[in-house]
Amino acid sequence: MKVAKFGGTSLASADQIKKVCNIIVKDNDRKLIVVSAPGKRNKDDIKVTDLLISLAEKHLEDGNSEKEFSRVIKRFSDIIHSLGLGGETLSAIMDDLNKKLSLDASDPGKFTDSLKAAGEDNCARLVADYLNKLGKEAHYINPGEAGMILSKEFGNAAVLPESYEKLAKLRDRPGISVFPGFFGYSADGEIVTFSRGGSDITGSILAAATCTDLYENFTDVDSVYAVNPNIVANPVPITVLTYREMRELSYAGFSIFHEEALAPVYHKGIPVAIKNTNNPGAPGTTIVMHKEVNKGPVVGIASDSGFCSINIRKYLMNREVGFGRKLLQILEDENLSYEHTPSGIDDISVILSQGQLDNEKEKRVVKKIRAELEVDEIQIEHDLALVMVVGEGARNAIGMASRAAGAFARAGVNIEMINQGSSEVSIMFGVKSGDAEKSVKCLYDEFFC
Ligand code: ASP
Repeated sequence: MKVAKFGGTSLASADQIKKVCNIIVKDNDRKLIVVSAPGKRNKDDIKVTDLLISLAEKHLEDGNSEKEFSRVIKRFSDIIHSLGLGGETLSAIMDDLNKKLSLDASDPGKFTDSLKAAGEDNCARLVADYLNKLGKEAHYINPGEAGMILSKEFGNAAVLPESYEKLAKLRDRPGISVFPGFFGYSADGEIVTFSRGGSDITGSILAAATCTDLYENFTDVDSVYAVNPNIVANPVPITVLTYREMRELSYAGFSIFHEEALAPVYHKGIPVAIKNTNNPGAPGTTIVMHKEVNKGPVVGIASDSGFCSINIRKYLMNREVGFGRKLLQILEDENLSYEHTPSGIDDISVILSQGQLDNEKEKRVVKKIRAELEVDEIQIEHDLALVMVVGEGARNAIGMASRAAGAFARAGVNIEMINQGSSEVSIMFGVKSGDAEKSVKCLYDEFFC
């Protein structure tokens, strides 16, 4: 049995939905299907989820949201019409949205989540209807009835452990089950969504719950590439990756897959195949637990910007018991999460995602660290990018750091920081954000050309 998840561009129009249904019916093992909401038909288009968010916002603002309502309906009616589905399908969608708009709006997060979920929910109904029209037995599955129970954190929910046992029963359903991605229900029955792009998470949860043989994730690219194709033209495709490699690559800017989505399948060791709806015959990329490292130690190079580093110096810091804990406690009290903490005997840096800090918070943190830890020096370095050289063999291959450092030197990039110790599968370099692209290019040339 396979769980197949289709992303927004795969469902953006009637033609795309036809391609999706052809893929589904070609393989009888594709029994559990997860769908996103219709996404962008072209670069300038707007995703249905974004249209629904605008609808919720306008309704909350002044209750006058007819224009936003019609834009959502137009997207669905175009699809329904071109698929030759009956008028009752569209009426059901209109009724659903009207019902959601009439709900209590005193909690904006709850109100918005209920509307946001309508993109996936109605798309799943459409796909099931169309499969039935093609003569296949298919059923829409309501996530609440099936047991997708989530924490009550609107817009950023997490699955609750008790869901898995309930969702396992989906295996025994007759025909093809079409399950809407991106949302579930809280224990008290409210609709709650994952963070954006969360249909990947739904697919992964269902794959883990049903112990499927393969989790197929259909998107709009042929494979994962060794480097961002917007930075290097025609980069090398990656055919096999380990979960850990994928995790490091997606952490540092590889946006093919939702960052949290791999956890459920990873824990069960279920392989993931990333495939292209527009070119299903292409080999794609498979993510597995273990692989043979035979094609060189590096599989990919990624970078992400928007980081800052709090650099601290204190004479005899290494002798001071509890220094690190107190420092991290200050960050915790300010609700700040950190990425890395490279350190020396009398120095420590804490690297954070810059978006978490505004001017006020930054001043407060510096003041607290100065006062509570009596440091000799503290300064915050802004606009850093993290560049990762990723590969199962990278850390243990002799000369890797030297090759990377040589490439940086030839490209005239100053390395602000290196972190090689803690990850088994990557070497991380901190550079100025303005040097990020140059860094990725020079490393790609070094390791792949
Ligand atoms: N439709 C949702 C979004 O745009 C979820 C998803 O597509 O995975 O974020």
